[in-house]
Amino acid sequence: MDLRYWLPRAAEVAERWGERFGSFAAHPSHRVDEADFAAAFERFAKRLEHNYPFFHPRYAGQMVKPPHPAALVGYLTAMRFNPNNHAYEGGPATNDMERECVAALAGMFGLPAHVGHLTSSGTIANLEALYVARQSHPGRGVAYSAQAHYTHSRMCHVLGVAGHAVAADAQGRMDPGALEELLRTGRVGTVVVTCGTTGLGAVDPVHEVLALARRYGARVHVDAAYGGFFALLAGDDERAAELGIDPLPWRAIAGCDSVTVDPHKHGLQPYGCGAVLFADPAIGRHFAHDSPYTYFTDAELHLGEISLECSRAGASAAALWLTLQLLPLTADGLGAGLAAGRRTALAWAELIEAGDELTLYQRPQLDIVTYFPSPGGGRPALSAIDAAGDRVLRAGMADERDPVYLSVLRVDAGDFARRHPGVRVDADGARVLRSVLIKPEAQAWLPRLHARVAELAAQAVGPDGPCASPSSDAPTAVPAVPLAVATAVPLAVPTVPSSVPSSVPSPEESAR
Ligand SMILES: *Cc1c(COP(=O)(O)O)cnc(C)c1O
Repeated sequence: MDLRYWLPRAAEVAERWGERFGSFAAHPSHRVDEADFAAAFERFAKRLEHNYPFFHPRYAGQMVKPPHPAALVGYLTAMRFNPNNHAYEGGPATNDMERECVAALAGMFGLPAHVGHLTSSGTIANLEALYVARQSHPGRGVAYSAQAHYTHSRMCHVLGVAGHAVAADAQGRMDPGALEELLRTGRVGTVVVTCGTTGLGAVDPVHEVLALARRYGARVHVDAAYGGFFALLAGDDERAAELGIDPLPWRAIAGCDSVTVDPHKHGLQPYGCGAVLFADPAIGRHFAHDSPYTYFTDAELHLGEISLECSRAGASAAALWLTLQLLPLTADGLGAGLAAGRRTALAWAELIEAGDELTLYQRPQLDIVTYFPSPGGGRPALSAIDAAGDRVLRAGMADERDPVYLSVLRVDAGDFARRHPGVRVDADGARVLRSVLIKPEAQAWLPRLHARVAELAAQAVGPDGPCASPSSDAPTAVPAVPLAVATAVPLAVPTVPSSVPSSVPSPEESAR
């Protein structure tokens, strides 16, 4: 896709359509001088350079990347009409697109029936699911894993329901035994399972939790905001086995009561695109309202009638719809990009285990890799591991010549010691390094990424740690890849800062 062609086309669609209504004079109050605009735009563009290169495989931190060009063109084209998907008359075309997208998402999870809609975010989608949970199981609380997204306890607070954190096992998954103990008290009406925790990418045992919850008359909500699109890979036995993904939790989603998934994470969409799906269309009754502002033109429930939010960008639905025309919800469609990320995570885990500089915090379950600089001999202190991780993070970002951008995850001392019993616990927790391999381009870049992070880790641990001085053949054996070839779509990417060289530095520079 050449955006130099498609961006002007995006602007034309609304304009050409608008011509049929006749010309009229624009009001002078909003008129701006072309030169003023040019000057303001320059200042604006300059400001935007204060950013991280989310598009580039050097960025291996949070679950962020720019939207697919199809989503970008879809969004901009529809935004010129500015539809509001709160109600059908806010924009019939994008309301229809939203319904089709939601049906496709329900199909991805195998829901036999559904009602649902897009939301501004995963947080709002979860809030809505917990609101319905409260209405259908009044007076009972919500259980979620101690590793669940932090907004679940916040939203329980907002809704005035009791939230209960359930212990996680040694791989960060909800412990069914601990859950059953809590269910036995009768205080829990809804269990939230997470398919892909935000921190570790851990997948709760949905199949086991669902069976338990049903025994105790509880609802089950699946928070698949981050991991939901891995259902495309888990649905195919052969591929799931090849990628080391247990299909059972994913298959069990079809029997749960509600699901959240964020197209603005693995669905290639710009921010502002979450989704919530309910298995029982009758939950619409919890949203009954009588808005004096909205007139109805549709026999079906309006999207706004089954939503806590009012105004919502129809352009989000347009962007997702256009994307799914080209990359449908199949293992070989949108799933191919996720499979690349998963393969990269597996390959990186192997490289880390084979080398001396880094240690895996735990084995990746999806495409999130967590690791820390291998401490020197003896009994390493947790505080030293924490400090070394922080040095890697900072040194990676500060090096203009060969930067790498990671993120950190704070883990409890107990959780750390369970995975690495040799550690001396001298602090209540530690930061471990975390890379979400959400871009398929990370696969080809992996040798460089690993070499650079390993080199930084060796430097962070210092001369007493293993591999303090990088050997001449390790980090520099990677082929030189000019940055320009990593960017196929010229207009979709910011220009690379001039301080970043187009080739791999020499060994002397690397050892700096
Ligand atoms: C990202 C995420 C959320 C929150 O979604 P937002 O779209 O950031 O509001 C909730 N749960 C999980 C598991 C997530 O990964």
